[in-house]
Amino acid sequence: MSILFASPTWPDYKNHFKLAFKKNNLDFNDITTDLQTNSLDVEFIIYDPKSKLKNFSPFENAKAILNLWAGVDEIIQNKTLNKPLIRLVDKGMTQGMVEWCIAHVLRYHLGIDNHIKKQDGVWRSDIIPSLADEITVGILGLGTLGGAVGKALAKIGFRVVGWSQTIKSISNIESYAELTNLKKVLQASQILITLLPLTPQTKYLLNASTLKLLPKNSVLINPGRGLLIKDDDLINLLDSGHIRHATLDVFSEEPLKSSHPYWKHPNVTVTPHIAAHTRPRSSAETITDSLIKMRRGETPTGLVDRTKMY
Ligand code: NAP
Repeated sequence: MSILFASPTWPDYKNHFKLAFKKNNLDFNDITTDLQTNSLDVEFIIYDPKSKLKNFSPFENAKAILNLWAGVDEIIQNKTLNKPLIRLVDKGMTQGMVEWCIAHVLRYHLGIDNHIKKQDGVWRSDIIPSLADEITVGILGLGTLGGAVGKALAKIGFRVVGWSQTIKSISNIESYAELTNLKKVLQASQILITLLPLTPQTKYLLNASTLKLLPKNSVLINPGRGLLIKDDDLINLLDSGHIRHATLDVFSEEPLKSSHPYWKHPNVTVTPHIAAHTRPRSSAETITDSLIKMRRGETPTGLVDRTKMY
């Protein structure tokens, strides 16, 4: 049977799959990128939400769909999908997210902009950064990515509070769950990182009333999903100065239109959904491992729970 790689990014992955398949004695020729291939012969679909493939019905014998992204908010709404869906849980992606979040937290914490943007001959030796243990970073979503980011921040010395569906036991992270405790986490967060999946429960979770709970002068970093935030409400709170700055990697519509107010806002930094890009080298290995596990009848990491929608 064949493995359909449904993504225009195949040239980036080809050599990495060749190596991973060779290492595991799998036949690389089983992989096809032809969307018109005999659908009944397809065993697995490696899927990119940007693929032209939108109808999974013909793939009656497929054992699973392996998403090339961690977020499944687009594909989960596809009514033709009735096979197990595996989201990407990959060390390269996790490491990328940790590095991106640490960079943006340290940017604010150390006041790096004061020196990068003001090279004007003035010796500002009075701007002394605080130490990490004086700053609380809140993380909404303590899953694969949020948990790893939290651990890395705690290791540097930040006080880390997190919020998820279920309480987590992660050393040096204060973990909270349920809506009733969201207030506590937001009120404590001088820097807030949102790493929640987009679901009906999390859509617009950050709106005028919840964002106001953040301490005055706080900072928001969103590499989760754009629709977690009500854009107009965030802009109002940035304009009023309640929120000092926002770094946004994801948006309600992508690419972000060139006319969108975020681009011109002095207190917004836009990055183009690059916080944790899928890394072909590590993800080819991860996906190969998942294929092997499923052929053995085991459940790979990242099986999506349809009822929870993530
Ligand atoms: P994950 O492992 O599934 O973690 C999701 C976390 O959110 C879990 O801790 C979960 O709680 C929590 N959660 C979900 N719904 C909740 C709710 N209603 N209330 C409270 N907590 C809730 O996902 P992940 O791999 O960390 O990825 C998180 C998100 O990051 C993805 O869904 C995607 O949107 C985004 N992402 C962005 C990029 C980028 O480049 N910008 C790259 C990859 C991923 P439990 O643990 O208790 O279930």
